Amino acid sequence: MSTVELPDPTVRRRTFHLLAKPAGAICNLDCTYCFFLSKELLYEGSRFRMADELLDDYIRQLIEAHGPAPEVTVAWQGGEPLLMGLDFFRRSVEYERRHARPGQRIVNTVQTNGTLIDAAWARFFRDNGFLVGLSIDGPRELHDTYRVDKGGKPTFDRVLRGLEHLREHAVRWNALTTLHDANAGHGREVYAFLRDDCGAEHMQFIPIVERATAHDLPLANEGWGDRASDRPLYRQEGDHVTDRSVTGQQYGRFLIDVFEDWVRHDVGRVYVQMFDVALANWHGEPPSLCVHSRTCGNALALEHNGDLYSCDHFVEPEHLLGNIGDRHLLELIDSPRQRKFGQDKYDTLPGQCLDCDVRFACHGGCPKDRFDTTPDGEPGLNHLCAGFKAFFHHVDGPMRTMSGLLRQGRAPALIMREYADADARRPHNAPCPCSGGRKWARCHGRPVTARQRDR
Ligand code: SF4
Ligand code: SF4
Repeated sequence: MSTVELPDPTVRRRTFHLLAKPAGAICNLDCTYCFFLSKELLYEGSRFRMADELLDDYIRQLIEAHGPAPEVTVAWQGGEPLLMGLDFFRRSVEYERRHARPGQRIVNTVQTNGTLIDAAWARFFRDNGFLVGLSIDGPRELHDTYRVDKGGKPTFDRVLRGLEHLREHAVRWNALTTLHDANAGHGREVYAFLRDDCGAEHMQFIPIVERATAHDLPLANEGWGDRASDRPLYRQEGDHVTDRSVTGQQYGRFLIDVFEDWVRHDVGRVYVQMFDVALANWHGEPPSLCVHSRTCGNALALEHNGDLYSCDHFVEPEHLLGNIGDRHLLELIDSPRQRKFGQDKYDTLPGQCLDCDVRFACHGGCPKDRFDTTPDGEPGLNHLCAGFKAFFHHVDGPMRTMSGLLRQGRAPALIMREYADADARRPHNAPCPCSGGRKWARCHGRPVTARQRDR
């Protein structure tokens, strides 16, 4: 491979986040909803392993692209990145040390299904300060609905074993839970399981929206992995969704159910990404999530062979920016094409979004999910719009309160006192404030786990 030099200083540096896939789309599991498995079809015949020379060059370019920034994040994702083996990550850490500027901190994150984590991995993660994202979809029966291995066997026990190793070695970790038709109706159970049984203090909830054309829908419903008979390559096209996908209403309901527990018990103790993002938008600060930012384009994906794509959700030929073996990462990130990709997030909003009272918090969601039509026939409305609207309207009051507390230099967690006072006065048979239609005593007034009952 040629060594690509840093472009001239007129190329602007900007904040970006890059997910690297050292094993491409290859995974030891076969989760039914994981359309990324089909991206293997983009590189037929490949060994799907990032070569050592490329790894070294990637780390160098990544660090150079950050200039004098005090901190650089190296983020690994897949497929299943742990299939690369420990030595790959040991070499990566070695290259990071070699290329880092004096005093620069390099932080590694890795997103994994957890089934390959043993004591050796956990020690390595701890010793090198890795932050581990663990994919887990809730209690056993909910997790095992779709998170299965190549033989279609459940994976819950293997994931929990991996988690045990992480916890025994005090590795920093967060839970990544995808929401689909099986678990979306169980917000409180999923949240309580992650918090009380797994000990999660950081959680991300990712809605599953698998798009398909009318033609591909029957195949898409079969799944995207090896067990599917004739899987198509997943592309962001079509205005149908698989049976597994969440609806906007389900997504909104899930978030509200979790929020109503969180705001009573866990503010300042448990971090739920969507709630942090909402608070940032209410508080007038840039949110940490592209989906609810005005523009995007700063979250790119690097394939195992050095191909750089505009976004992890757009790993498809039309969104290939180039290869970092030919052009420096910084040049590709600052290309007019990538800037347009990010600007389009705002420029393509339908009128309904432009007029929406919660646009400051929502920003129309991710462009990948904008394939519905507004009631007046305009295309480009987000499939999850109803959920966004319901959630953002629901949290308006508490977000204003928490933002107000922050402005006074006080902890947002103080909001829990207000909730406790109001709940103490609430009759058992009053409607639950979550607006789910049940009585308070049978809904958020009822603990769902033993640990919650013991509080
Ligand atoms: S397309 Fe969606 S996921 Fe990708 S950067 Fe934009 S908002 Fe983020
Ligand atoms: S809630 Fe719906 S209408 Fe409002 S900005 Fe979000 S997607 Fe657009």
